[in-house]
Amino acid sequence: MPDRHVDTAAVHAGRLIVPSNTASSPPLFQASSYEFSDLDDVEAIYAGTREGRIYGRYGGPNAGQFETAIAELEGAEAAVGAAAGMSAIDAALATHVVAGDAIVATREVYGGTYALLEADYRGRGIDVRYVDQSDFEAVSRALAGPGTRAKVLYVEALTNPLVHVADLRALAACAHDANAALIVDATFATPALVRPLAFGADLVVHSVGKYLGGHGDVGAGVLAGRAQAIAEARAYLIRRGATLPHFEAWLAVRGLRTLALRMERHASNARAVAAYLQMQPQVARVYHPSLANHPQHALAARDYAHGTGGIVAFDLAGGASAVDPFLRGLATIAIVHSLGEVATTISYPTVSSHRPFPIEERAALGVSAGTLRISCGIEHPSDLIADLTRAFGGLGERPRA
Ligand code: PLP
Repeated sequence: MPDRHVDTAAVHAGRLIVPSNTASSPPLFQASSYEFSDLDDVEAIYAGTREGRIYGRYGGPNAGQFETAIAELEGAEAAVGAAAGMSAIDAALATHVVAGDAIVATREVYGGTYALLEADYRGRGIDVRYVDQSDFEAVSRALAGPGTRAKVLYVEALTNPLVHVADLRALAACAHDANAALIVDATFATPALVRPLAFGADLVVHSVGKYLGGHGDVGAGVLAGRAQAIAEARAYLIRRGATLPHFEAWLAVRGLRTLALRMERHASNARAVAAYLQMQPQVARVYHPSLANHPQHALAARDYAHGTGGIVAFDLAGGASAVDPFLRGLATIAIVHSLGEVATTISYPTVSSHRPFPIEERAALGVSAGTLRISCGIEHPSDLIADLTRAFGGLGERPRA
């Protein structure tokens, strides 16, 4: 190489060196553009006949690695990462419906999805009908009409905050009998607990920032399903600039490595916390599928061999007025409006996830002014129970040990 001017050397010296042997942990490719060796290379990479990258928004190697991992975990032909769970949900829906079509969605849908359905789907001429996802006759009726037949049945594998369990096999049958696609949000479950595609779902979506990432540091989404559906979703996400950024993909892969272990502990802690809460005189009701009084206890036992994740909800007997003193009494468990992190967190649905719903609608969903939701982390259960015991102690009546 002839001597070059420092101005040129500063730009070109020490260009990226790809090591000849594989790194044992994934490097971060924080690159938004890629070089082509010639025009044949351009054509081959665009056609997909040669492995290669085009441009950051089209997806980088870290996003590709995450997508490959999710496709394998979900037993899917393909997966595509997205900038957020909401982008993944939007891509899943938008590639299935146009103005004049209809969507049937669970009435327990996540608040952000409800807002999306109302503003961007109903608002653009798509009929949206809400149903109780455990009432299959109502689901089938809603899929059939009134008005146009629905193209999509949208459900959540485990619902927020009462952890209702969707019977995915039965819902897939309802959807397919009506020629609709079944799209499942399995954020609360993850493929470590349930793989919706194996039950007949057409697409599965996740908010990656919850259990898949697991450490409260990722904002990302993903959807998995058949190759053709994923190719259409990918094109939609690329057009909207809603693809998965490199660093988030890298963090998500790092999180995935411990998914199975974390989910086991989240689930065992949730069982311990639910059993403890059930014994407390200050608690009116506990919601967790491990409890015999849960409406889908038997279904959970059939479909969830490794537990139903880390979410437990409960109603304080003292109602709304007991909530603030109880929350103030917690030292280890923080108030956080998210879930699925290694640390145990608590949220008050009335002011967080269910804030947009009028009080009657909240009541119809079974969420009262005394309902709290715990996302059990991976700490030792005795410290979680000690923290809860302290908070119950502050309410007056003596908690049971
Ligand atoms: N689905 C569920 C069940 C959620 O809880 C959330 C967020 O809390 C989302 C989707 C949306 O995901 P994101 O916040 O990554 O856009």
